Amino acid sequence: METLVLVNLFHELALKGQNRPFFLKKAKAHVKRALKDLDVKLLGEWPMALLFRLEEAAWPEAKTRLQETLGVESFARVLRTPPDLEALKAALEKALEGQTFGSFRITAKRSDKAFPLTSPEIERALGAFVKERTGAKVQLKGAEKEFVVRILPGAALLEAERHPGPGGLPPGVSGRVVALLSGGIDSPVAAYRLMRRGAEVVLVHFHPFPLLSGASREKAKALAERLARFQHRLRLHLVPFSEVQRHIIAEAPPAYRVVLYRRYMLRIAEAIAKEEGALALCTGDSLGQVASQTLENLHAVNQAATLPVFRPLIGWDKQEIVAEAKRIGTYETSILPDEECCTLFAPKHPVTRARLEVVLQTEARLPTEELLALALKEREVLTYTFPGEKPLEGPGKEAFIMEHGPA
Ligand code: ATP
Ligand code: MG
Repeated sequence: METLVLVNLFHELALKGQNRPFFLKKAKAHVKRALKDLDVKLLGEWPMALLFRLEEAAWPEAKTRLQETLGVESFARVLRTPPDLEALKAALEKALEGQTFGSFRITAKRSDKAFPLTSPEIERALGAFVKERTGAKVQLKGAEKEFVVRILPGAALLEAERHPGPGGLPPGVSGRVVALLSGGIDSPVAAYRLMRRGAEVVLVHFHPFPLLSGASREKAKALAERLARFQHRLRLHLVPFSEVQRHIIAEAPPAYRVVLYRRYMLRIAEAIAKEEGALALCTGDSLGQVASQTLENLHAVNQAATLPVFRPLIGWDKQEIVAEAKRIGTYETSILPDEECCTLFAPKHPVTRARLEVVLQTEARLPTEELLALALKEREVLTYTFPGEKPLEGPGKEAFIMEHGPA
């Protein structure tokens, strides 16, 4: 008995007109990469589906991965046996392991007409077998569980279990976006929502190290590692922000600090977007969630960017965002304590209706170009890959120690 996995691609991929081959090629490459180190073998390829063979022991990991592989509509574990009833019963026995259900049905599809039993006869024989093993009742409509059996010339296939994939477009088909990643709950979800729409996301995190601890930086790294599971290759720019903050604190009315922090974040992210060839920015803002996310403040912040700023969570409330963060596995990291830049000297009463002229007057006193150049120069860039490889660390702080050659 062999274990096979049938992967069906996201339905929207079929609707891309002339670009359909491009979208399908990208989606298939993404699925193959997700499984590549699990010793799978590609057995079949159709326009909207792939069939792999894998070792039985690799199934649990393959299942976890396919559940988070963008572009996958659904997937099924399929057992392949010789085309006879006894072999199919043995396969059903295996498929029943660890499963409980109150009602089920068997659906037989016989494409080899030489097989001695008709489809209803196969269904009855296998139905009786499952009933005897589990005590569950046969129910043709609305059964909890369906086992699909296909009789082909020379082989029989039993669909043992089927699971939904996440859907979505494969990463990279929509172009590149720079996402601002704080250590909080919202921004990783926002980045993920754009990945789902086929954006290739590049992450940027601003941290207060060395002025404060490096905790937010470590969180950003952990979040990037998690998000790399969805994109397979993900860059994270870690940008020191204390120098910008020091200047803002010295010059700005306290109530305006956070709005100004945000404007500088957008400016630096935009410079990174230019380098990266990205055509948009992304943040985790949700309308009215906190003082910095009133419409007036979002408007004042937005003026600092010339690229479009996408805010996929703008219409989501906190509960919805938290549920999604739990689903994609970022929540546990996001709620760890940290010291992030925006709490640094955050005013007790931040402005909720920032006036652009106050913002511009303050910025006129700041050495904006120098601050941008410094932040870009001092940043570190890390690359995370999935599956199988550890992050490829770019030249970081350690490299400078070696500047004059090894001692
Ligand atoms: P989050 O949960 O994503 O931190 P939040 O509700 O705390 O969001 P704010 O602190 O107002 O909201 O931040 C709004 C958005 O600004 C964030 O979602 C993120 O995209 C960006 N941002 C804030 N702080 C940083 C940071 N230190 N580095 C990168 N981006 C940041
Ligand atoms: Mg935050």
